[in-house]
Amino acid sequence: MYATHYVKAKSLAEAAKLLASNPEAKVMAGGMTLVPTLKQRLAKPSHLVDIGALAELRGIAAKGGTVTIGAATKHHEVATSPLVRKAIPALAYLASLIGDPQVRNLGTIGGSVANNDPAADYPAAVLGLGATVVTNKRQIAADDYFQGLFTTALDESEIVTRIEFPVPKRAAYAKFPHPASGYAMTGVFVAQTANGIRVAVTGAGPGVFRWKAAEKALGKNPKAAALEGVALDAAEMNEDIHATREYRANLVRVMAKRALAKLR
Ligand SMILES: Cc1cc2nc3c(=O)[nH]c(=O)nc-3n(C[C@H](O)[C@H](O)[C@H](O)COP(=O)(O)OP(=O)(O)OC[C@H]3O[C@@H](n4cnc5c(N)ncnc54)[C@H](O)[C@@H]3O)c2cc1C
Repeated sequence: MYATHYVKAKSLAEAAKLLASNPEAKVMAGGMTLVPTLKQRLAKPSHLVDIGALAELRGIAAKGGTVTIGAATKHHEVATSPLVRKAIPALAYLASLIGDPQVRNLGTIGGSVANNDPAADYPAAVLGLGATVVTNKRQIAADDYFQGLFTTALDESEIVTRIEFPVPKRAAYAKFPHPASGYAMTGVFVAQTANGIRVAVTGAGPGVFRWKAAEKALGKNPKAAALEGVALDAAEMNEDIHATREYRANLVRVMAKRALAKLR
């Protein structure tokens, strides 16, 4: 058994205080990633600070061209939210593709973005839409937030409180799921924003990244044909038992084209 203390936080302030005074403590939201990690003895936190039920971290609001989603909001809530479906249908669609019903009813957007699994779906939307990750300490632009394999700009005691998504003119997500796990072998989120086209790729590389050469080509002509001949360095893609680097590099182009075909 683990010698750990489970604490169901009553407020964000209490959770923040516990983390600040216990360097080995960990926040738990849906537990969908953290609990399997504990079962495999890959982490040994002194405290599990459960923020999953905090009302101040839950909920979805749309105002002034921004959709704000509380960090403890479940994937299912995002997938079925009339507000998200209306303002950013591609984001609701992306949430509906995560895992299975059990995972979608427990896993949270904050947990996914904090964990930054290289094959997770939400990071593609956060980066593709140029969202802002808000924590109990500061606001972090998506372009500065994701820093590679399971790495983010968060410090050890920082808690994601909400994500602010600017509503795009049009957006779409196309995912090629791993047939067993459902995680993205490659997922591409394309958004036509006030500041131009953004193309974010998950699953293919060691972390979510913007395919800037594609953004440049699509800026002149936002059609799939514009991607012909646009370079993507296979050497920078992941390689494992499921797919070679070259396969993944090709899949990025295929998924980007599929996303472009359903931009709305
Ligand atoms: C069978 C299965 C299939 C899955 N398939 C997919 C898939 O297809 N696509 C996909 O994207 N994901 C998938 N997932 C992952 C799932 O989306 C998780 O919900 C998500 O990765 C973590 O969210 P959580 O709320 O469960 O976080 P937890 O497991 O509670 O925490 C994960 C990590 O984030 C930290 N954390 C949690 N919340 C916060 C916060 N607010 N601030 C700071 N740190 C925080 C924790 O300390 C921990 O380190 C799958 C998971 C499982 C078990």
